[in-house]
Amino acid sequence: MERYFAASLSTLPRLRFEDVERIVGRHSTTKEARLSKGYKFFVEAFIHNYQVSNVVDRKVVVRARCYRSMRKNEEPHTLEMALESEEVVGVSTYMCSCAAGKGLCNHLTTLLYQTAHYVQLNLQTVPPPLACTGSTSRGSEGTSCPETKISWEDWNQVYPIQGLHR
Ligand SMILES: [Zn+2]
Repeated sequence: MERYFAASLSTLPRLRFEDVERIVGRHSTTKEARLSKGYKFFVEAFIHNYQVSNVVDRKVVVRARCYRSMRKNEEPHTLEMALESEEVVGVSTYMCSCAAGKGLCNHLTTLLYQTAHYVQLNLQTVPPPLACTGSTSRGSEGTSCPETKISWEDWNQVYPIQGLHR
């Protein structure tokens, strides 16, 4: 079956916040630091362009972009992870465009928190992004709204989805 992505959250496995801690603990040697940074990024709404795939081989792939910093005007990181819906939700493969992306990094931790948040709220679709408030954005020098939308075609060229099936 072919994998496709949408803003629908209906295929998300029931990832809970305690699952985030368990998964990060399994995939990172610096669990506490990851959790605290990841939670901070989540609260700051660093995750955007969140999309969820259909279920293929009992796996759902979640992908999104994540800002690098509060300034939000640098090229965001690109993230992707495959969630397996067994009795407890697990993460099978993941990647992030940051240098630390070989392990489970802060951004992927943020993506997990974001996912648990959507599950907790029982949302059926990704909510639309908050309106850009421009000059009120935390006193940063970048006062314009950064253009962060990329097409999924472009995305697939950079990070082919088949890359997940190694
Ligand atoms: Zn990262």
